[in-house]
Amino acid sequence: MSTDTVTPTDLAPLTEADHIRLAEQHAAANYAPLPVVITSGEGCWLTDVAGNRYLDCLSAYSAVSFGHRNERILAAAREQLERVTLTGRAFHHDQFGPFCAELGALVGKQMALPMNTGAEAVETGIKVARKWGYQVKGVPDGQANIVVAANNFHGRTTTVISFSDDPDARVGFGPYTPGFRAVPFGDAEALAAAIDEHTVAVLLEPIQGEAGVILPPSGYLRRVRELCTERNVLFIADEVQSGLARTGRTLACEHYGVVPDMYLLGKALGGGVVPVSAVLADADVLGVLRPGQHGSTFGGNPLACAVGRAVVGMLATGEYQERARVLGEQLRERLDGLLGHGLTEVRCLGLWAGIDVDPALGTGREVCERLLAHGVLAKDTHGQTLRLGPPLVIEPDELDWAVDALRASLTDLA
Ligand SMILES: *Cc1c(COP(=O)(O)O)cnc(C)c1O
Repeated sequence: MSTDTVTPTDLAPLTEADHIRLAEQHAAANYAPLPVVITSGEGCWLTDVAGNRYLDCLSAYSAVSFGHRNERILAAAREQLERVTLTGRAFHHDQFGPFCAELGALVGKQMALPMNTGAEAVETGIKVARKWGYQVKGVPDGQANIVVAANNFHGRTTTVISFSDDPDARVGFGPYTPGFRAVPFGDAEALAAAIDEHTVAVLLEPIQGEAGVILPPSGYLRRVRELCTERNVLFIADEVQSGLARTGRTLACEHYGVVPDMYLLGKALGGGVVPVSAVLADADVLGVLRPGQHGSTFGGNPLACAVGRAVVGMLATGEYQERARVLGEQLRERLDGLLGHGLTEVRCLGLWAGIDVDPALGTGREVCERLLAHGVLAKDTHGQTLRLGPPLVIEPDELDWAVDALRASLTDLA
């Protein structure tokens, strides 16, 4: 190989400023990352190029729920790397059937359709619901509609942003996919009014994550379930972020005593290693798909299934759900102590918190910048809100340390 074309990555070691400059000059600016350059991770901790350690309180939006380089997940991945990583769905492979069966058993559904990213799971759910609407419910062709919630976040594809009301996500990306109607989250009467004879699905995040960990009002999801049953409409729960132990239960829907017709899972399902998502439903719903009607080159690949099986195996014990529940109580208590000291509201379920920063102190971004200086990584959302969702393997003293850093950050800005 020629060595006379020196690329920047050969000029090791690059400084933090070098890395940031390269990214700013050569990468699309579709993110505004905090000024930190990570080189390695272990459990809840990340290390930057200068050797500084940070407690990860974002865990890649729950995709690293089991911690960085979790041993059991890495072992499953390594073992699979030594055998076969990709076959395409043209053939069976020995991780596929077991993964679908085990994941289905974990969430109580008969069938799974594995995809890669969360947005693909959402797209798949929409396609399945429409097909079901035409084939089973008898909606006239091309007339199906799906009711969604205002302030939703379901991903970034063109169809999914068509029913977003976040201007950043939406403006400039039209024309938009028709067939969606939005109603306020938590308003069951508005939902009831939006459903008509052509409605095939209600698509909701049971807890709105990106919107700032917005919990559903009491009785809301039960009423959604009743309405969907009464009106012959599929209830689709997007649990890409809320699912898989984050809230202290396997699925956030369990807290509210509801069983949707379809779950959309992603993020944590890939164990922080590979993108793995899935649509879960019973045979009367997922059974509408026939060969050739949907697919993905990488969806359900052997490596993804092996990693997904390790994740499902870890969730099957209930240990992580219990950790999230117990540590979540600690987190809520500690955060409540900051109310009136820089925080105006705290919403918490399991190891997942949305906290609103007093605008008098500064923005969520400014608090994140102070947190970075205190050794904690977190992400703001929608201006004044901060989301905390550390890996579920965090220890109680580490969690306290993170809240102490938050207190110090708020004090810095006061
Ligand atoms: C993150 C997220 C998605 C999209 O997942 P990607 O893997 O980023 O495509 C969809 N729905 C919800 C609720 C999410 O939080």
